[in-house]
Amino acid sequence: MHVPSLIEKKRDGRTLTTKEIKSLVEDFTVGDVPDYQMSALAMAVFFRGMSPGETYHLTDAMMNSGRILKYPEGSPPKIDKHSTGGVGDKVSLALAPLLACDEVWVPMISDRGLGITGGTLDKLESIPGFNANLDEKRALKQLERIGVFIIGQTDDICPADKKLYALRDVTGTVPSQPLLVASIMSKKLAENLDRLVLDVKFGRGAFMRTEEEAQKLAEAMKNVGESMKVKTSYLLSPMDEPLGRAVGNALEVAECVEILQGGGPPDVIKLIVDLAEKVSKTPRAKLEKRLNDGSAWKKFISLVYAQDGDATMVEKLQEHHRAPIIQPWPAKATGTVKRIDAGLIGRASVLLGAGRQRTTDPVDFAVGFSEIKKVGEQVDLDDPVFVIHARNERSIVNITPLLEKAVEVG
Ligand code: URA
Repeated sequence: MHVPSLIEKKRDGRTLTTKEIKSLVEDFTVGDVPDYQMSALAMAVFFRGMSPGETYHLTDAMMNSGRILKYPEGSPPKIDKHSTGGVGDKVSLALAPLLACDEVWVPMISDRGLGITGGTLDKLESIPGFNANLDEKRALKQLERIGVFIIGQTDDICPADKKLYALRDVTGTVPSQPLLVASIMSKKLAENLDRLVLDVKFGRGAFMRTEEEAQKLAEAMKNVGESMKVKTSYLLSPMDEPLGRAVGNALEVAECVEILQGGGPPDVIKLIVDLAEKVSKTPRAKLEKRLNDGSAWKKFISLVYAQDGDATMVEKLQEHHRAPIIQPWPAKATGTVKRIDAGLIGRASVLLGAGRQRTTDPVDFAVGFSEIKKVGEQVDLDDPVFVIHARNERSIVNITPLLEKAVEVG
């Protein structure tokens, strides 16, 4: 296969054949297509798009770049959820254990931060020792024992997405419908599910800016899912302001602990239960009860423990990862919070170090934002609109222009 010709073909808006897509993904997975060529191709796809057929074959090739999970005869239904990515979106951390309180299995293959959005695995790895790299055998044993795992793509499962995801994160090629579909659905289809719910976000802090774009993306993913026999549903959810009151890795786990212990911000709780209802056969009231009566919390602790995490640290994460600088951002006026721009807060959080600017960057678990006010809340002049957690003064100076634009109190 001559990769430069494929890049040119896509650059010129022509359709790649099934064979070309399959060879490209296979060669990229084994390292025969260098990152710079794959990045160029991703950019060509970003500008030129892909037909539904090309998107399907890209998803299929990425799913088949590794193994598809196999389950023992007679095992419970397999269900899962995936989000297209948002700012402050910590839903999976609470939803996976909540779902696993039922007689189902939740084999969640998740992801790291992407662009301005945070990633479930980065958040979980803020728990000392947490291991998101289980092999298939160990992951399946864990499902049999506690009904849930949360892992990343591995060299065995969806390796093509593992590599392409990391490239897209730092090459401006994330918000492309076919790339989003293939990335998300290849992972979810490799899980060999019975039911899947997709949380498709739209707004300032999402890859899809409008509800119409989100609907198109949702339908494209549903089509791929259903054509591979997975009952796929979706929910379109707004992402103009951050979800909940915390953005940043350890800060978001701390917020999840609150939720799993019966507290936490109502917007996150509502989304968790809305999504759970789409894949669970359990009534809403019972799902809500499990967040309040400690059942989902106990399941979360068993998950952390099963994946080598130090469960004794989970309630102390904020102290464990305490940022050197913690300072409020004061309201410039008295009035109602009109806007807290999720896109700008997401960018600021990457600049603070909570996300990556290069594939090799480590993430800083401590930094981010907490106590974020919600749109519609009242503040007085100089009241904190949120609290910044930063590694140093320089990073605060860097993000100040973004924060000035992000907040509107009127
Ligand atoms: N989640 C994924 O797994 N992939 C994407 O491209 C975006 C969100």
